Amino acid sequence: MHTLIIIFTGILGLIVGSFLNVVILRMNTGKGLGGRSMCLSCNKTLHWYELIPLFSFIIQKGKCTGCHSKISRQYPIVEFITGILFASIALNVSGTVHIILWLIIVSLGMVIAVYDVHHRMIPVKPLIALAVASLLVGFHIFAAIIVALPFLALWFISLGKWIGFGDVELMAIIGLALGISAGFSAVILGFWIACLVILPIVFYLKRKGRKHNPEIPFGPFLLFGMYLTGVWGINIVTMVSKMVH
Ligand SMILES: [Zn+2]
Repeated sequence: MHTLIIIFTGILGLIVGSFLNVVILRMNTGKGLGGRSMCLSCNKTLHWYELIPLFSFIIQKGKCTGCHSKISRQYPIVEFITGILFASIALNVSGTVHIILWLIIVSLGMVIAVYDVHHRMIPVKPLIALAVASLLVGFHIFAAIIVALPFLALWFISLGKWIGFGDVELMAIIGLALGISAGFSAVILGFWIACLVILPIVFYLKRKGRKHNPEIPFGPFLLFGMYLTGVWGINIVTMVSKMVH
């Protein structure tokens, strides 16, 4: 029975992911969320069978059936990852209310992360919604301040050059959801994974003779750290303190 619930939640994730793509695409463009989906190149209205998450993209080989222009790979990637995230929440999180809150948190996190990648900016409305969901899941108000404070200082000292204010807000939200120990763990994980991903890219660009460092969105890494600690229970802080003792 439990396996069925995990599979069902995964499929729900694919569908939600397809909706999140629309949200990401239309956010801050003045367009509403209503109306039929269309091909962005030829404005062909899409049939239901062209809107099946993941499968339509695979069957159509990533091309519009009308004009054969390429469909952005963002669509299947967001759908697939949301499906995996949803299934993993059904697998790891206990309690219906907490499961639903975490499904909301990863959905909002997905919107924020992809938007941050595209625009190097954390969108306000999903961030506020994420703060509310995080408050409900953890209620660690004091931890929000403690986790964000060192990074708020970094932001203040560097006048926003080392770290963006949106990232500081994300850290406060992480503290709000996870508490002090798990909150710091999530932020540390985010930093480590960011380094693992970013350092090879910077090294590669240096070898190619590029002078400017690429501006890297940090939000997605923080959110990934939040997911790893919150959903999978990976807590670097307790792991290290166990090793020390
Ligand atoms: Zn088309």
